[in-house]
Amino acid sequence: MNTPHSGKIAGDLISNTIQSDSDAFVSFANVTKTYDGRSKVVDGLYLDIRKGEFLTLLGPSGSGKTTTLMMLAGFETLTSGEIFLDGSSLSNKPPHLRHIGMVFQNYALFPHMTVAENIAFPLEVRGVARAEIGKLVAKALDMVRLPNVGDRRPAQLSGGQQQRIALARALVFEPRLVLMDEPLGALDKQLREHMQYEIRALHQRLGVTVVYVTHDQTEALTMSDRIAVFDSGRVRQLADPKTVYQQPSDGFVATFVGEGNRLDGMLSSIKDGWGQAILADGTAIGVVPVDARAGEPGMIVVRPEHVRVAGPDEAMVNGLETIVEDVVFRGDRLIIRLRTRGGGELIAQLNIDHATPRIGANVRAGFEAGNARIYDKALMAR
Ligand code: ADP
Ligand code: MG
Repeated sequence: MNTPHSGKIAGDLISNTIQSDSDAFVSFANVTKTYDGRSKVVDGLYLDIRKGEFLTLLGPSGSGKTTTLMMLAGFETLTSGEIFLDGSSLSNKPPHLRHIGMVFQNYALFPHMTVAENIAFPLEVRGVARAEIGKLVAKALDMVRLPNVGDRRPAQLSGGQQQRIALARALVFEPRLVLMDEPLGALDKQLREHMQYEIRALHQRLGVTVVYVTHDQTEALTMSDRIAVFDSGRVRQLADPKTVYQQPSDGFVATFVGEGNRLDGMLSSIKDGWGQAILADGTAIGVVPVDARAGEPGMIVVRPEHVRVAGPDEAMVNGLETIVEDVVFRGDRLIIRLRTRGGGELIAQLNIDHATPRIGANVRAGFEAGNARIYDKALMAR
């Protein structure tokens, strides 16, 4: 599938012709949304979602993720553009005819109903026969591994159990598409991580298409087949988690997803695809040019796990002079906080058996040129 709008920021790159990718299960075609008639909270969105995939909309608060999901569900109108589901336009289709399941952070279960009644609700709305409903509810409870709680009230369950019931309710009518908006946001860290694996396993087992919303980059990396990184109503990058992490397409993605050291630098030259950058203190280092322009202020981003710290007399290519400011023991790794001569901070994440540098020592720290990517500073995350 290689359509003009399957790449990065397609809205800028292709003509405004509305088209639907025949391979796509869900297709946003030049969708724009404004609530106040001025600011576009979703801005010329092109996004194709494949059948059966787990696609995550990842972005900071206010970037338009929920609005995008609400337009797909039919609870919010489009200002312009069109959304296609399974080849047909959703333009005049009311929410209940879209056959979409939903789980939201605050989409509470009905408190006055039992768990079984809650799960039965979407089936009753759809006129499924009584006898059938009982069977389907039991199956849904099995699926979320809570077979014996049908007679309880939601308040008698833990937060994690309630969220699993919400999941069962969203899946019981076998929707062709499930939308989840920060469904784990209210859970504590341990339960959240556990539920990430549960939802992932459920997705793999059922093969249903999932559009998932989160502002948590670790969650997005853990769960997704592909991630659409949102900023200001636009998709900055659409790719699998590994590509998003290792080859961010711009500085926003580089700093929003994963930890990243930022070093001010100016791209001075490019040769054979490799760049040379001049740091604030005049040091020249090799870099990968991404979207930085030569002679303009740039930002070099290096992951902490790619920073190496030299021993006392060890040479280090592509390195810089630093002073050790702090050394933190994290159980499975050492975190070294370094200050560069140019005044920047550089965090190194080292193997636990690495020699521990002394605080206050002058050390050389460096990284492979291939792990130092330079971006246009104007497009960095704030
Ligand atoms: P996200 O889910 O990424 O946090 P939202 O889609 O909820 O983002 O919001 C995007 C922008 O639209 C925000 O600036 C928000 O304040 C605004 N917004 C969202 N819903 C409404 C609404 N119903 N009326 C007016 N503005 C809204
Ligand atoms: Mg939201």
